[in-house]
Amino acid sequence: METRTNTTAVFIGGAGHSGSTLLGLSLGSHPQVFYGGEARKSIFFGNEKKPLRKRMCKVCGPECKVWNHLVVNDEIDLYEALSRRTGRPVTVDSTKSLEWLKQQSELAHGRGAKTILLFLSRDGRAVVSSGLRKYPEETATQHAEKWMSQMEGTAAFAAQFPGVVERVRYEALVTAPEATLRRLCDVIGIAFDPAMLDPFSSEQHPLGGNAGTQSLLQKAQTKPEGGSMPISGSKKDYYASHPKSFVLDLRWKRELPAEALAEFEAVAGALNVQYAWNEDATDTVTEGTS
Ligand SMILES: [Zn+2]
Repeated sequence: METRTNTTAVFIGGAGHSGSTLLGLSLGSHPQVFYGGEARKSIFFGNEKKPLRKRMCKVCGPECKVWNHLVVNDEIDLYEALSRRTGRPVTVDSTKSLEWLKQQSELAHGRGAKTILLFLSRDGRAVVSSGLRKYPEETATQHAEKWMSQMEGTAAFAAQFPGVVERVRYEALVTAPEATLRRLCDVIGIAFDPAMLDPFSSEQHPLGGNAGTQSLLQKAQTKPEGGSMPISGSKKDYYASHPKSFVLDLRWKRELPAEALAEFEAVAGALNVQYAWNEDATDTVTEGTS
């Protein structure tokens, strides 16, 4: 059997709207790491029933030197194919689907890759607020239930995960990026690289993910007509004035209506005790390391 090029398969698990695109771009700025975004979307590439934006690189569009004609088969799994193509031995996949994570982590583990699950979390109130911003037709209760179910499902998956599980808080990543990323580098087994602190300047080829965060990527490499998603309204204003660095997004404090907050507390208040972020806390650096 040929030697495996993909030594390490990293998964970012957890709920949506929790900063996985930012974490993925940070990790993918390391010269040994390729961040594939929500890599499960690659299975839709040949499926013309799916919208085009869901089956192409968010930066390059349909003409992507990484994703185009990538051969995945019984011998070469997705991460091995990506590592061979990019020359980067570590891959990062931020697909949220637990079924996919289970299947792919077992496959990579069985083939000798080191597998790592980064269990990303964020204050549930911020997650629900982002959800309402994107899908206002759903109620706060529905968003809270979705968050809770994904967090509980990911925790159950983490307990069975064939590899290392490391908890990461979104708030720790943005308030103490270097300390957080150094810790993750130790877990992954790579040396920290300062390029990780500048996640919007390196070459990236993510599938799916947060269009707002991706809009911060260097304009030189984005092609609006093909790849990167247009954003509009208050989201556009927010990201237009966003510095190209780590910023703690606390928009929920202004935007989440009192009734929605009450709905959230009724459904998910108990679970959120462990995830609630107190910005006045002085132990922001050490939080999330447990
Ligand atoms: Zn690309």
